[in-house]
Amino acid sequence: MQNIIENLAVVHQQIKLDAQNAGRKESDVTLLCVSKTKSEDMIKAAYQAGERHFGESYALEAQGKITSLKAQGFNDIIWHFIGPIQSNKTKHIASHFDVVESVDRIKILDRLNEQRPDGLPVLKIMIQVNISQEEQKQGCEEQELEALLEHAARLPKLKVIGLMGVARIDAPDEELNASFAKLKALKDQYAKHYPELTELSMGMTADMAQAICQGSTEVRIGSAIFGARDYSKAKA
Ligand SMILES: *Cc1c(COP(=O)(O)O)cnc(C)c1O
Repeated sequence: MQNIIENLAVVHQQIKLDAQNAGRKESDVTLLCVSKTKSEDMIKAAYQAGERHFGESYALEAQGKITSLKAQGFNDIIWHFIGPIQSNKTKHIASHFDVVESVDRIKILDRLNEQRPDGLPVLKIMIQVNISQEEQKQGCEEQELEALLEHAARLPKLKVIGLMGVARIDAPDEELNASFAKLKALKDQYAKHYPELTELSMGMTADMAQAICQGSTEVRIGSAIFGARDYSKAKA
C-alpha cells in the first residue's frame, strides 16, 4: 500500500505541472481514482492519503465494494460510474453512485431517473460523447448531444453537470489534442443554454497532460495509482 501513497504524490505533482504548463490552477483539476478491479484495501489506502473521488466500471463489483465500505464508515466517498451501462444494471447504478459519467442514450437517462431512490440527492450525470474519431460503441455522437441534454433537463432526479470523453488509445499527440479540444468546444457551446454544464471529464494515465492542456476539469486515473489491472477477476 506504500506504493499507492507514493504513486498518488507523483500523480498530484504531474497534475500540478500539467496545469501550470497550461496556465491553469492545480485546483481546477479533480483527481478521480479509478479503482475498478482493485481491492477495498487499496481504496482505503488512497482514502487515507486524502482521496475522496473514486471511479468504478462494473456495476456489481462496485456495488459490493461501496456497500462494504459504507458499512465500515467510509461515508464521504464520491462514487463515479464510468463504465458501459447495460440497462439491466441501471438500478444498481442509480442506488449506489453519486455521479454517472458514461450516459450516452435517452433510455438510460429515463431508467436512472425512475430508479434513483427517494431520499437520495439528485444523481449527477455526465454525457459521454464519442470523441475518438473511430467506430466506437461508447458515447453518443455529437449530433445526438442536444437531444440528450434537452431530455435530461426534464428529469427531476437527474442533473447533468458535464461531458465525458475517452480519446483513442495510443493516438498521436495532435489527435489527442484535437479530440479533447472538440469536447471542450461542445461543453462551451452547450453551457450557454445549460449553465450547470461545468465539468469536463477527460484524460487517463496515458493522456492526462494533453487533456489538462485542453481544459479537463477531472482526470480519471487508474494504473498510475493502483498499478496495472488484472481483468481475470472482473465481473460485470
Ligand atoms: C479504466 C478507465 C480509466 C483509467 O484508465 P488508466 O489508463 O488505468 O488510467 C479511465 N477512464 C475510463 C472510462 C476507464 O474505463
